[in-house]
Formats: sequence, structure tokens, C-alpha cells
Amino acid sequence: MIDRYIHQQLRIGLVSPQQISTWSKKILPNGEIVGEVTKPYTFHYKTNKPEKDGLFCERIFGPIKSGICACGNYRVIGDQKEDPKFCEQCGVEFVDSRIRRYQMGYIKLAYPIRNEKLSSHLIQSGCPVPDMFLDYSLVEWKELEEEEPTGNEWEDRKVGRRKDFLLRRMELAKHFIRTNIEPKWMVLCLLPVLPPELRPIYHIDEDKLVTSDINEIYRRIIYRNNTLTDLLTTSIATPEELIISQEKLLQEAVDALLDNGICGQPMRDDHNRVYKSLSDVIEGKEGRVRETLLGKRVDYSGRSVIVVGPSLALHRCGLPREIAIELFQAFVIRDLIRKHLASNIGVAKSQIQKKKTDCMGNTSENSG
Ligand SMILES: [Zn+2]
Repeated sequence: MIDRYIHQQLRIGLVSPQQISTWSKKILPNGEIVGEVTKPYTFHYKTNKPEKDGLFCERIFGPIKSGICACGNYRVIGDQKEDPKFCEQCGVEFVDSRIRRYQMGYIKLAYPIRNEKLSSHLIQSGCPVPDMFLDYSLVEWKELEEEEPTGNEWEDRKVGRRKDFLLRRMELAKHFIRTNIEPKWMVLCLLPVLPPELRPIYHIDEDKLVTSDINEIYRRIIYRNNTLTDLLTTSIATPEELIISQEKLLQEAVDALLDNGICGQPMRDDHNRVYKSLSDVIEGKEGRVRETLLGKRVDYSGRSVIVVGPSLALHRCGLPREIAIELFQAFVIRDLIRKHLASNIGVAKSQIQKKKTDCMGNTSENSG
């Protein structure tokens, strides 16, 4: 399903609730729809198996071991004769465990949550349709444009600021129209749950666990969401204040997931460390995009004293051999493999280490 040749581009933006639903809902062969994460649990402390309907549920996200369901039955993957293709007892499909890298789940929010990261620009407007929004802003901008300067510096500056604001608002509305995004998508009713392999839990010791912050935040969201659902459904005489404060808690937890600290104090763990949100995973120098997608760091580097080289032409620069080999190691390795002098990268590297002089030919070929 995930193929590096298909995924030629990456876009970060808003998606429709329908899209979230198609990503995360899965219909089992018996017609049952799974995908909703309802329990804040991860693994059972005794059996070490994922909890059903929890954040690592095999029924929702797929089996941990390829072709083996939660009760331990095994089927050959892709076998046409075998039927059904999922276990009738536990509901886990007999598929490759790689599915856990891209199968999403969802949380059904008891209260619509604003996507604070994107909505703060638009919320003042109160206008849900970008077309109308654009027209209104244009009319107002034209009116202001036709007005004569009043001579009062304070008033003129106020008008200028309003005009700038209108321009920004029109840009945003145009963006919505151009990309076919509806502003109402900024309010979430379904919250996507990241595939479990992208937010792993590791056991270091018997009882020590290392978990991604994302899991911790999801856990809180589910707790708070379940409490709110209970307040809204089971008890009739719940004071309104209690419901409002629970809604706020839920909004806070979702904010922490999308961008921790965007609204006031960031959410912290027991050691007072700020949780890493989804935005933190993406943005910045150490974020997913710049660190692993846009460029790859190599660990070859060298440093030397600069000296004059009378035999070199103006556009050329000489390098000490050792440094050249180190610096162009990737190319040297490629050539050694291409010329069948080494079978793989490891062998090529050790060859370079052993007899640096032999590789000189390669280096001069490439760097020349
Ligand atoms: Zn089973």
C-alpha cells in the first residue's frame, strides 16, 4: 500500500472528516466496522499483549506478528483458499504486520474541538463561506480605499491597519477557495490516531517502559473524552459548569497533541518535561521534514590547512588524499561495488580502511 514511488510529494493541510473516516475505518469481512479507539490502555501488564480497543489494539491496527491473530492462530497471508481472512474470535485480520505502520484509528470526540493551530486566524471572522468572506472583505477594502485621508494621524493609521488586515483575510479566503478546503474542517469531530508503529513503546527492562509522548497525550485525550461522554449521556442532572470545564480539558488535551503550548501553558509529564506534540515532531531543524526528508547528513568530513598550489589552475582546488577519500567515501564505495571489487558497503568500507592507496584511482576519477 505504501510505496515510495507513489508518494512523490507531501502536503500538510486540513482534511475532511470523510477523509479521516476512510483512513481509519476498516470493515471486517463479517461487516463489522472497526477503527474507533475507545480505551486509553496500551499493553496488558501481565500478558504483554495489546489491550482490545486500546491504543495498540490488533483488531484496529493489524497484527503485531504477520499472519498471527491475537489468540495465536496462524494463516498464510494472501492464501485464496483460506476463508475467512480474519479470526472470528478476536477479529484480527491475517495480514502483514507492516500494516501497523500506516493503518490509522480514530477517536470520536464527545464535543467538537477547534483545531487551534489553524483556526486562530479565522475565528474572528465568524463567516463560514470563503466566497462570501472574500466579497465582504473586498467591498470594505474598496470603501476604505475611496475615503479621503482625514488628516488625523491616529485615524489614518487605524484605517491603514484595517486595510492590511482585510488584505490578509482575502489572501486566506483565496487560499481556501484555491485548495478546495472548507473552513468547517477546522473543527474536529473525529480525531485521527496515528499508526502504532509511528509512536512506539519499548521495553527496556522487565518493568521499565519507554513510550512516545504522543501515546501519553492520546491517553489523556481518551480519558477526558470518555469522562465527558459519561457526563453527557449517563447522568441527566450534571451541572453545566462541570460539563464546560470537562470540555475545556478535552480541548486542552487535543491542543497539546496538535501543538503543545499553543494556548497558554504546555502540558507536562511527572518530571515537569514538556510533551512533544505532533507539530514538534514535524517542525524545526530536528523535525521529520528537515532531518530525514529534505536532506541526509553524512558522517564524512575533513579539515586541513590551506596552502597555495602553484600547479593548480584558478578554478581548481587541491585536497590532501586522505581527506579526499574520506570526503568522497560515498562515491568511492559506489565505484568499488560497481567494479565488483567489493560485494557490499561494509566490505567496501573495510577495503578503504585497509589499503587507502588502492582507492586513489577511484577518488581522482570522481573528483576530477
Ligand atoms: Zn484470533
